[in-house]
Amino acid sequence: MSTTVAGDDADLIIRGGRIRTFDAAGTTASALAVRGGRIVALDADAEALRAPSTVELDGRTVVPGINDAHLHAAWLGARWPHLFFSDTPPEHQPSGALVSTAAERRAALRHAWSLLAELGITSYTEPGIGPGEDDGETGCFGTDMLDAYVALHREGAQTSRVTLLRLFGTIDGESTLADFERGIRSPAPETDARWLSIPGVKIFADGIPPMATAWVCEPYADGSTGHLLTRGDDPLAAFRRMIELAAGDGLQVAVHATGDRSIEEFLRVLEELPAPPRAPHYVVHGDLATHDQIARLRAVGAGFAVQPMIAAHTRSWAGAQLGPERLAAAWPLAEMLSSGVLTTITSDAPIASPDWRLGLDAALDLLGSDDIATRTALLRRMTTDAARQDGAAEWKGSLEPGMVADLTVLDEDPLEPGRAFASIGVARTIVEGRTVFVRD
Ligand SMILES: [Zn+2]
Repeated sequence: MSTTVAGDDADLIIRGGRIRTFDAAGTTASALAVRGGRIVALDADAEALRAPSTVELDGRTVVPGINDAHLHAAWLGARWPHLFFSDTPPEHQPSGALVSTAAERRAALRHAWSLLAELGITSYTEPGIGPGEDDGETGCFGTDMLDAYVALHREGAQTSRVTLLRLFGTIDGESTLADFERGIRSPAPETDARWLSIPGVKIFADGIPPMATAWVCEPYADGSTGHLLTRGDDPLAAFRRMIELAAGDGLQVAVHATGDRSIEEFLRVLEELPAPPRAPHYVVHGDLATHDQIARLRAVGAGFAVQPMIAAHTRSWAGAQLGPERLAAAWPLAEMLSSGVLTTITSDAPIASPDWRLGLDAALDLLGSDDIATRTALLRRMTTDAARQDGAAEWKGSLEPGMVADLTVLDEDPLEPGRAFASIGVARTIVEGRTVFVRD
């Protein structure tokens, strides 16, 4: 991509199609100009500028770059093309160490980044990397992987912006208060937060409903209730202390909580905390969140990161544990959207596909509606709201003058009802004004 030379007003003009800005008013523009990686003008103001480089949309639609606010990119890159929810039978799923050397860790990240660029994803959250996984089975979540991230970041090799949460226990497993306290005292690496932001921590509170490991108020069919995964003299005291310690340091706290009991205990701590941090606290998954909890989470300025594809894949399996009544109330996406609580729609890849279009189709199914308002609401969960979760809404997530030029060019308008998101091709992906993917 060219840089501005004397006589030019911009580096790049994009024109000839429909630009869905996702600003507060939902404005559509016909042209957009970029200078120094930022949007400097829209519509006629943009067309009037001179630039050495132009992208002709030929009637295509531009949306803000997609932000998948919960995606395990290192693991995805190491496992690809194998996803947990896929046609790959268990005996052909990769197992054991997936990456062992620095070169393999770098390759996994680069592989993920090229996949994400092809999909139009310009930002994501890597949810949980740290010392608790230094001896982990896959090699994808330990300190060495954090080092690989930082090294590639400092080399300017990224094509996606990353928000990374540190993890001081094991992935999908236990964490001790002692390890957490030690971890949180060790400073996060120095990075440019525009590209590699490390705003907080991930804590695993419980498991998942299909395995009867979500911590629930009402017992499962077998009489069990699941339990907390945190460890200390008392699991609940340890859990509370971890949240208080992190929040006290101004860190964002993301808690894996699927059961109503674990969400409740997280909320009780949040309700006692002073003002939320710049990057808000949030529940990851929230499968069994209740009406009351959704309203209270909104009241404390916290949010949910949810996965409609996981709901679709595990619904019948979870039903056996939850019974019909609780199953009918599970994955309350409609209520999250109508309540106004901060909600992001995410893939949790490589659990499900990293293709956000499949995730939004699963969300349409879950909601049972397909109109422009619903589609707009869903795309906001992967653009403007995801930027809010990142604590970055003032500089990314919408296409307005002053915002970074992170955008995705689609063959069709994704807001038009009646067609699957998955049928819409990604033509080009631009991050900070630079094309990182263009379809041949
Ligand atoms: Zn996850």
